[in-house]
Amino acid sequence: MNNMIRKVSSVTAIFCVSIFCNSILACNSAKSNPHQIVIKAQEDTNQFLWKKINYDSSKQYIYLTFDDGPQNGTAAVFELCKQLGVKASFFMVGAHAQTKRLRQIVSMIRNAYPQTLLCNHSFTHANNKYQFFYHHPEMAVEDFFRSQASLNIPFKIVRLPGNRAWIGQNEIKASELVKPVCILLDSAGYNAIGWDVEWQFKHRNAHPVQTPEQMIAMVDSAFIKHDTRTNNHIVILSHDRMFRDKNYADSLAKFITLLKRNPHYVFETVDHYPHLKPMQ
Ligand SMILES: [Zn+2]
Repeated sequence: MNNMIRKVSSVTAIFCVSIFCNSILACNSAKSNPHQIVIKAQEDTNQFLWKKINYDSSKQYIYLTFDDGPQNGTAAVFELCKQLGVKASFFMVGAHAQTKRLRQIVSMIRNAYPQTLLCNHSFTHANNKYQFFYHHPEMAVEDFFRSQASLNIPFKIVRLPGNRAWIGQNEIKASELVKPVCILLDSAGYNAIGWDVEWQFKHRNAHPVQTPEQMIAMVDSAFIKHDTRTNNHIVILSHDRMFRDKNYADSLAKFITLLKRNPHYVFETVDHYPHLKPMQ
């Protein structure tokens, strides 16, 4: 079978729902305009077939990553990536999947692999108390395990809450604070993905700070100056909730459209980032 994913179940129902959400944890505080997105409810597929890719030395690889979902904005980002035909990775927080609709969004993203990849961003997001979380490494690791199970995450790929540590095959790049957690995650077979460039947001209302054109300039510059963790590969961090309003979803669409104009740029999911431990 040449598909990367073997689907053992099919779409069972279609629900038209609002992506308006009012039950997200601390890191999602502002309100937004609701708009309608069709969520396809699916049973989770049981098996993911990971396939190694051969990098093209004439290309530069872009990993779009969206953190803190499922939340208001996640479905809009997913729809946009699907419409524009680009791959993206979603680092999700187990405790955010509080309603049936939010769990359906998680399943939709999970089952759309290889276009989108569901990854682990912990269960509690450290309750946004990072010092306490990382000073209790066994507890922190259990928090990741809990999210892995509750969201049914396919591969062992995490992003640490509030921290840009990296864990790959035979390498850990981490601050002293998070190193004990990273050592435990590493020994349990996990990879961690940091980021090279961040599309920042205003904490007051989650609106993006940079314009799409400024983001393009940052990406182009990072490649030219080799200012990325791995040459010719760039991980871009953003957050789902930044794009919950229509005008900012349009900003994301513009950013992706401008990136697509560069014939050297290729979009990938983070399971294909170089030098990771093999996927199961
Ligand atoms: Zn986060």
